[in-house]
Amino acid sequence: MFVKDVRRTEQKYRKPRNIIMRIEPSAIGFDIDGVVADTTEAFIRILNKKYGISGITAADIVEFDVCQCLNIEPEIVEGTFAALLTDPIAAEMRPLPGAVSVLQCLGRQAPLTFITARPLRRPIADWLSHVLGRETFQNSNLIAMGDHDGKASHIRKAGLNYFVDDRYETCVELETGGDITPLVFTQPWNKGRHQLQSVSSWLEIAQLCHL
Ligand SMILES: [Mg+2]
Repeated sequence: MFVKDVRRTEQKYRKPRNIIMRIEPSAIGFDIDGVVADTTEAFIRILNKKYGISGITAADIVEFDVCQCLNIEPEIVEGTFAALLTDPIAAEMRPLPGAVSVLQCLGRQAPLTFITARPLRRPIADWLSHVLGRETFQNSNLIAMGDHDGKASHIRKAGLNYFVDDRYETCVELETGGDITPLVFTQPWNKGRHQLQSVSSWLEIAQLCHL
């Protein structure tokens, strides 16, 4: 989930076919919003607290570009995301269930890699250190690209073969090279829109990594 992404497809697919695999902890990297971070919860809470907008649930956010599915002024959406971009700790953005324990476990076996479209590195670095703990975060590789496209080159540079992302367009782009296996983290905005392998929880990620 994020703002400023107007591309969408109406194509509907059947349930993706999942393949059993074993992923080495050193071979997998992660997007942050919608994968590690429960950006939806924070977004809905800030809309309510800061702008008095209520009645929106996570199930209502069925587009990556939230302006496409919520009847809210774009300025309000941008203001809400600005709070999450500039100070996610103050915004009390939370990790998704299981993310912290699985990442801490993976981080003990290999350095973690996070690649985000966020334009500001420092605030999200502070947030990751805050939720994962300094010890886990200090050896991590964090790339803030400032763009939704072009993750493949960073993934290759980091020597990864697997990448977990909630934006299915990103995963489709990653798959085309053949050397990266994308895993779509299931969210309402990607359900039924792709045929790629998906994961719907951190427990599934832990199982794929045989933790
Ligand atoms: Mg994301």
